[in-house]
Amino acid sequence: MVAKPKDLSQNRALKIVKKASDEGYAVPALCCYNVESIIAGVRAAEAKNSPVIIQLFPWAVTYADGLLVHAAAEAADNAKVPVAVHMDHAQTPEIVKRAADLGGFDGIMVDMSHYEKEENFAKTRELVKYCNDRGIITEAEPGRIEGGEDGVGDTADFALQGLLTSPEQAEEFVSLGIHWLAPAFGNVHGNYGPKGPQLDYDRLRAIQKQVGDRVQLVLHGASGKWFFDELYDKVISCGMAKCNINDAMNDHFINVLKEKAGKAPLTTLIEEGTLAMQKAIERHMDYMGSTGKA
Ligand SMILES: [Zn+2]
Repeated sequence: MVAKPKDLSQNRALKIVKKASDEGYAVPALCCYNVESIIAGVRAAEAKNSPVIIQLFPWAVTYADGLLVHAAAEAADNAKVPVAVHMDHAQTPEIVKRAADLGGFDGIMVDMSHYEKEENFAKTRELVKYCNDRGIITEAEPGRIEGGEDGVGDTADFALQGLLTSPEQAEEFVSLGIHWLAPAFGNVHGNYGPKGPQLDYDRLRAIQKQVGDRVQLVLHGASGKWFFDELYDKVISCGMAKCNINDAMNDHFINVLKEKAGKAPLTTLIEEGTLAMQKAIERHMDYMGSTGKA
């Protein structure tokens, strides 16, 4: 594994997303659950000459005891285009530290959003330093993005209402030393309901105006059912430089399994499932404008 640079300005995750922010596009951040999705992500990035971020949830660390993280880091090290590895929604101090100590992550989302404000702040500050000392940058979520994802604790489990991010809150979080900020502006994890996303663009623009010169904004909740060219253009014009995708890629793998399980050899299921994810990721590189930006 390539050693992490002590100088955070040389961190590959930071460089990838900073360039996207400066040049007005976004980088797909892929929520990977298996080695097939990691392979699909790197193949898509190389085919489209695009940068990409491989994301793993804490589930991936505990399930495979770090093995998937090391696979992702090796794939990133060997890729012909810029690839970085990030942990999404690390929700306890223990998992943040365990992930940081594994050595494969370039970035970690320190998600203490389910703690009350004071505790959230104190924990985030301490963990940002812990990560930075190991050459790792951090993402945080002021406010609270509602809903849950496979492999992440649903914020509803903590019996708290979703809270939208204010520019003041964004400012407070930036003062903790984070590099990426995930605002809550009406975006949710999972299902948007029949009306689709009801996004507060004025709020997002106000946040961008307040802190966009010091951190990059990142999007959670880009549902594969609603987010295509138009919606990506809109959020990117408000400063989004990394957009997480989950069902938009993983559903294509599941569909191949559903269709072919029991009718084709396992190797065929794996190869066709990987290719279906690769094609879906490539489409998202076009939607987000990262194609050709490696
Ligand atoms: Zn998220």
